[in-house]
This record gives sequence, C-alpha cells and structure tokens, in this order.
Amino acid sequence: MSILELKDVDVFYGDFQALFSVNFAVEEGQTFAFIGANGGGKSTLLRTLAGLLKPNSGEVLFQGEAINDVPAHTRVGMGIALVPEGRRVFPSLTVRENLLIGAYGGRKGEWTVDSVLGLFPLLEPLMKRQASSLSGGEQQALAIGRALMANPHLLLLDEVSLGLAPVVIKRIYEAMGQLVQKGTTILVVEQDVQHVLTVADYVACFLEGRISLEGKPGDLSSEQITAAYFGM
Ligand code: ATP
Repeated sequence: MSILELKDVDVFYGDFQALFSVNFAVEEGQTFAFIGANGGGKSTLLRTLAGLLKPNSGEVLFQGEAINDVPAHTRVGMGIALVPEGRRVFPSLTVRENLLIGAYGGRKGEWTVDSVLGLFPLLEPLMKRQASSLSGGEQQALAIGRALMANPHLLLLDEVSLGLAPVVIKRIYEAMGQLVQKGTTILVVEQDVQHVLTVADYVACFLEGRISLEGKPGDLSSEQITAAYFGM
C-alpha cells in the first residue's frame, strides 16, 4: 500500500483553479521531489496535504484512508508534518519553546528535543535565544526540527534551501539523508533542480497546476526536464 495517494485532485482559491486533476502515489520511505517554475502549484499541493486547503474534487489517501475532511491539526497526530516555505518559526518564542510546540498534538516517537539537537547540533547553544534573533539557516534548522518533534511518517518540506548559504544547504541535505535512513517519507519542493535530483527517488514537475513530467531522476533527460519546467 502506498503511504500517500492522490486521485484526480483539484484545488481552487476561490474561483481560481491552482491544481488540475493531480494524480500520484508515494511509497513508504521514498523521497519524492516536486520541481517547477513559480506558480506551478507546488506549495498549494503541500498545503493541501497538510490539510490547510481542501480539494474541491478528487481524493487524498494517507495510509489507505481518505483524509479530505481531516483537519490540519488531526493530520499532525496521524503523522503528517509540514515545514512551510519561508522558515516560519514563532519569532518571540525561544528555540526550545519552538521545538516543544512542535510536539503538541504529534505522535510519540524517537524525535525529542535531544534527538533534534543530535541532528542539528548548531541549535544547542541557541536554545534560550529568541527565534527572531537566529540567522536564516538556524531558523530553517529550527523549522525542520520543530516539524520532526511531531514524529511524522510523512515530512513535507517546502523550499527549505531557498536563500540559504551553500554550507547550510549542505547540512540540511545531510539531515534529509539521515531522515531517509530512519525510514521517513519525504516530499520536498525545491528550486534547485540539480541538487534535488541527486537525492530524490522520484520527481514530478508542476506546470500551471498540472504534472507536466514525472519519473525516476535516472530515467529523465535534462532536455525533458527543461521542456517540462518551461512548458516547451
Ligand atoms: P512558488 O515557487 O512561487 O511558491 P508554487 O509552484 O509553489 O510556486 P503556488 O504557490 O502553489 O505555486 O501557486 C499556484 C498558483 O496559485 C499561482 O498562480 C498562485 O498565484 C496561486 N495562489 C497561491 N496562493 C494563493 C492564494 N492564497 N490565493 C489565491 N491564489 C493563490
């Protein structure tokens, strides 16, 4: 059974249709990457999976169960956690408080404050600092750590490397590798196509709300990807 399956999912913002009949299935433990130009619908997709948007038609199945009507906070307890675009941490709370909030409503499991610090040791000396005083890379590590505190089966990462220094991006990708080894299923939206293709088991390109290309990275040529990306 796939951990996640989408069947003909349409999503609208009011009258504006952002996703058109999206279909795909993700296997447990896979790293599934979404690429595509701005406005293609990648963030809309992740928000839909997190329960922040509801499909107007079609079905989202998580571990075989239809979850269209399951609210976002309940999905956290089912094992779905989102790291939204833009490193949204709670700025006035400390690093420790941000992490502890991540566990609220989540599942019990191996991710605790201590194990998150094992994954991101850079957070250790910052625990008492206000999140607003952290650098971009530190905030991103905190945002990922906070999501892990819910002990997700399915981790949704939206443009987690955008705007960060190469050394920080390297650390985040290393952390993703460690999560994969633990069996976490990862859905990642990434602007850096070359980089994400090196870690993804499967990739889908979004263009104007539709999947314009999908497959295993090794089966796709750079010409195909460029064409799907720009709609040529
Ligand atoms: P980006 O890389 O810019 O985030 P994306 O592929 O994630 O791109 P989305 O953010 O999902 O794309 O946007 C898909 C479409 O939905 C775009 O046309 C966008 O303008 C529109 N859209 C996104 N958010 C909203 C919103 N809150 N209200 C109305 N339209 C929206």
